[in-house]
Amino acid sequence: MAQNDKRYDEANAMLPFKLIYSDAYYLPIGAHVFPAEKYRRIRDRLLATGVAEAGDFVEPAPATDQDILLVHKPEYVQKLKTGALTQREEMEMEIPYSRDLVEAFWLAAGGSILAARQALADRVAISIGGGFHHAFPDHGEGFCMIHDVAVAIRRLQRDDQIRTAMTVDCDVHQGNGTAAIFAGARTPSDPLPSSSAAAARTGGIRMRNAHAGDVFTISLHQHNNYPMWKPLSSIDVDLPDGVGDDDYLAWLDNALSSGLRNFEPDLLCYIAGADPYKEDQLGGLSLTIEGLRKRDELVFRVARARDIPVMVTFAGGYARDVEDTVTIHCNTVVAAKEVFTRALSS
Ligand SMILES: [Zn+2]
Repeated sequence: MAQNDKRYDEANAMLPFKLIYSDAYYLPIGAHVFPAEKYRRIRDRLLATGVAEAGDFVEPAPATDQDILLVHKPEYVQKLKTGALTQREEMEMEIPYSRDLVEAFWLAAGGSILAARQALADRVAISIGGGFHHAFPDHGEGFCMIHDVAVAIRRLQRDDQIRTAMTVDCDVHQGNGTAAIFAGARTPSDPLPSSSAAAARTGGIRMRNAHAGDVFTISLHQHNNYPMWKPLSSIDVDLPDGVGDDDYLAWLDNALSSGLRNFEPDLLCYIAGADPYKEDQLGGLSLTIEGLRKRDELVFRVARARDIPVMVTFAGGYARDVEDTVTIHCNTVVAAKEVFTRALSS
């Protein structure tokens, strides 16, 4: 390849948004079903395939204790900082406590704060980490110690950078921490109509809808999966086992339309879990890698069309072959690149 051509390609490869990443995103949890090395692998793959270049990555600073306390109870934060969790609390978290792990979660929260700010500047930003949606104000569970996305929302609200936010959680597991944290001033309302073609095909899907406070929460998840107790989100789409690409995309479209009819967010927080994948060890849905890429595109197209800044976190992903998890997450970056490159030139 001629020198000029190479420079041209590199110029083209620059993303119109930032990727938030640090080697210290790595979770020191030893041999675990959560592939803690996926973050570095995603970064390496994005560089190797020319989707991104080194200049596209920005390194976050850890959140401050003050930031963490915008969401989490002082007693819980104190326990984390002094290593005073009870055995039961550590078991519920399902990852082994260490000071290093605490630092990794503070950094993940800092990464989400930076991603949210960058999203306001560039229309989209992706943290190659985060999405710890099972963390509650007073405890951690399901591999999640600190709710990085909630911390980011509360920090930007405190700084008057946003007033409202919407979470769109497409991890296969319900966003129970998110729902609990933002349950606030919410009252139940009429269920959404379930007359769509998707409902007819799959049946048994329940969609609950409720008015939001300052944060509107949407969760699409497998009903018959962790967590057993699912606190009410603004919209919960309880999907039956084995749902495939077409039905999933129809329900996502429906949920996004319904949510955005009811609520105008200043920021959309997309929790892009890779675990609705058909080969996932902890999931029971049947999406393909291609279907998951269409899912990402749909979220980005909707955000772009309404000019809502979108910050992305990656959450779960437990494919039998970790390379599939890496592919699914990398495709999220590819989808954002396609949708937002078009948007900038239009
Ligand atoms: Zn999950």
